[in-house]
Amino acid sequence: MGTSFVLDPRAWISPPYQSCPFCGERESYGVLMINGRGYVRRCRSCMKDKRFSLPSTPKKLLYLDQFVISKLMFVLHPDHRERLRKQGDEEAAFWLALFERLDRLLKLQLLACPDSTAHWEESLPSPFNTDLRRMYEHLSADVSYEHPATIKRFQLHAAFLRWLDGTEKVVTVEDIASGAINHWTDRIQVTTRIEPTDEELSELREVRERTHAGLAAEVERWRREPRRRFSEYFEGQLLAAGPHDMRVYTKWTETVVRMTTGVVQLDPEQMLPPNPARTVTILKRTLGERGVPVDQQLSKIAEFFTSEDARQVPWLQIACGMLAALAVKASLQQAPSPDAGMLTDLNTVATLLPYCDAIFIDNRCADLLREATERVPLDYEASVFSTGNREELLDWLDELESAADPEHPALVEEVYGSGWQEPYTTMLVAKEGERE
Ligand SMILES: [Zn+2]
Repeated sequence: MGTSFVLDPRAWISPPYQSCPFCGERESYGVLMINGRGYVRRCRSCMKDKRFSLPSTPKKLLYLDQFVISKLMFVLHPDHRERLRKQGDEEAAFWLALFERLDRLLKLQLLACPDSTAHWEESLPSPFNTDLRRMYEHLSADVSYEHPATIKRFQLHAAFLRWLDGTEKVVTVEDIASGAINHWTDRIQVTTRIEPTDEELSELREVRERTHAGLAAEVERWRREPRRRFSEYFEGQLLAAGPHDMRVYTKWTETVVRMTTGVVQLDPEQMLPPNPARTVTILKRTLGERGVPVDQQLSKIAEFFTSEDARQVPWLQIACGMLAALAVKASLQQAPSPDAGMLTDLNTVATLLPYCDAIFIDNRCADLLREATERVPLDYEASVFSTGNREELLDWLDELESAADPEHPALVEEVYGSGWQEPYTTMLVAKEGERE
C-alpha cells in the first residue's frame, strides 16, 4: 500500500465496465461490490447504482491439512520454491498444478477450502507464519470452521437433547462453519488479524506438549501390553471419553470452590472452565431448564455418558476409531511414533470430516482413517485424499468444474471480468517497496 491515499469514490468501482443505463456514458458502469447472493454496479460518471441478484452457488468444501498449506506456500514463494524443486520436478509440478486448480475453482465460486484453528495454531510457531497465513486465508474464500472444542460441544449437546427429549437435532455445516458458505465472494478479501501474545504462544506450546506426552505414553502402553482386537481398543476409548469430561468438570469445580472460599489464591485464569467442564456446565443448564434439581444433575449427566446416544457422537466415533487403529498398529509394533502434530491432526479430522466434501490429509492419518472406516460405520461422506492418491484429487477438482452449470463461467466473467480466473501464482511475490 502506498503512503498517500486519495479518497476518490470512483476508486471502488472495478471492471468489467459496461455502458451506463442511466446516463449513457460508455465503459463507465462497473462493479462496486459483490456479496452473498448479489452484486452492485455503479456508474463512474453519474454515480448511480443498481443491485443485481445472483443465483445460489453451492460450493464444495475441501479441507486441506497444514502440510498442504505449507507445500502450496513453498511452491509459490520465491525463497522456498527451489527447496521444493530439489525434491524433484514432479513434486513442484504437482503442488503448482494443485494451486492453479484450487485458485481457479475459488474464483469460479465453486469451491472453498475453509481455514481452521489448526491452521492458525500450527502456523504460529513457524518462521514463515505470515506467508502460511496468507495462503490459508486466501484459499478459505472467507469460510472458517469453528474450534474443534466448539464442534464437539455442539455434537454432544445435540446427542444430549436426543437422549433427553427424543428431539432429532443434527449439527450441520452451517452450525459449525462461519462466513461465506455458498456465497459469491468479493474481489477483495478483508481479513482481521489478531496477533497472539507471547503468553498465549507459550501456553499453546505447553498444551501441545502435554497432550502429545499423553498420546506418546498411550502408544507406549499399547506396545507393551498384550495384543487386543480392534473392537476392544475401540470400546476402551469410547468408555474413557465420558468419565474424562466428568473428571475435568469435578476438578474444575473443586478449584473454583477452593478459590472462592479463600483456601487458595484467586487466579482468574483458573476460574475459566476447561472445555470438557464447559460441556458439562451446558448439559447441567439444559437439565436445570427442564426442572431437574441441582443435586440430581450430575448423576443424570453421568447416566447420559454411558448411553448409546453419547457413544454415537460423530467426532467421538471417528476419533476413537482412529485411536483404536493406532492401538492395533502399536500392538503389532508397527505404529509410527507420534509427534506433536499427530493429536492435532486426529482431532481436526474427527471434528471436521462430517462437514467436508473432501479432505486432503497426510498418509499417516489417512491410513488410520481407512482402517477405522473398514471396522466401524463412521458418519461421513467426504472423499479422502492423501499423498498416496493425490493425483485423484486433481481429477476430483476437474470434475467440479465440468459438473457446473454451462452458463456459470459466463456469469462469473460478467461479474468479475475476463482476467479474473488467471491463477494468482504471484500472491507471495513481494511488490516493489514491500520487502524489508
Ligand atoms: Zn451513468
